[in-house]
Amino acid sequence: MIVVFLGPPGSGKGTQAKKLSQELGLLHISTGDLLRDAVRKGTELGKRAKEYMEKGELVPDSLIINLIEEVMPQDGGFILDGFPRTTAQALALDEMLRKHGRELQKVVLFNISEEAVVERLSGRLSCSQCGAVYHIKNHPPKKEGVCDLCGGELLQREDDREEVIRKRFRVYAEQTRPLVDFYKEKNKLVSLDAEKGVEEINKELLEVLKDGS
Ligand code: ADP
Ligand code: AMP
Repeated sequence: MIVVFLGPPGSGKGTQAKKLSQELGLLHISTGDLLRDAVRKGTELGKRAKEYMEKGELVPDSLIINLIEEVMPQDGGFILDGFPRTTAQALALDEMLRKHGRELQKVVLFNISEEAVVERLSGRLSCSQCGAVYHIKNHPPKKEGVCDLCGGELLQREDDREEVIRKRFRVYAEQTRPLVDFYKEKNKLVSLDAEKGVEEINKELLEVLKDGS
């Protein structure tokens, strides 16, 4: 099964993708995580992507499409979290899947307001070691500043500051939201209320995806 998670930053795509990938045995491909890893390691991609990410802008399509071409598996199911984010990326994805003789089953749209996004992202903490995601109020770690899973240090992301969050929300509205119609026309889109709790959304996802093979 091949699934795309579409939605504004902070709508809970990563949280749900991590859970669902374990439950359904799917690979979780997050372009944001891959880019942050490249920035940390100082690779050529990381050096080129860094300034866009800090400003809350999208990294150029050509870099992202090359990245996805490198990491997309030939077989086995996967969840794309944070890709595609532009029409050019969506067309490139269609073409890649066609070449591999594969098909996208569903695109899940995470609906959420800008204010809820600001509240979530200004409280988000991410593990510097394993990437696990917490929230100061909604999902606090057992011990302050320490990851429950691996003991790594929890940090706030550079781009989770209010002005950058609002910029990222605007970028989503302008460049990514047109994909809602793109996938609606292809009959691939399912929407969910991303302001519900983590467990409730997880249940809905399992229901929506249960007959996908
Ligand atoms: P995205 O991957 O879409 O940017 P995340 O999964 O990182 O979003 O979630 C953003 C923040 O909101 C995190 O701090 C996370 O713990 C919290 N969060 C995720 N889903 C929910 C939810 N359903 N209700 C409340 N908080 C949530
Ligand atoms: P995310 O972790 O999904 O919130 O992404 C963090 C940042 O990485 C974004 O603000 C962009 O700068 C960049 N990024 C991630 N995925 C993409 C993509 N598909 N296209 C362009 N830029 C991306």
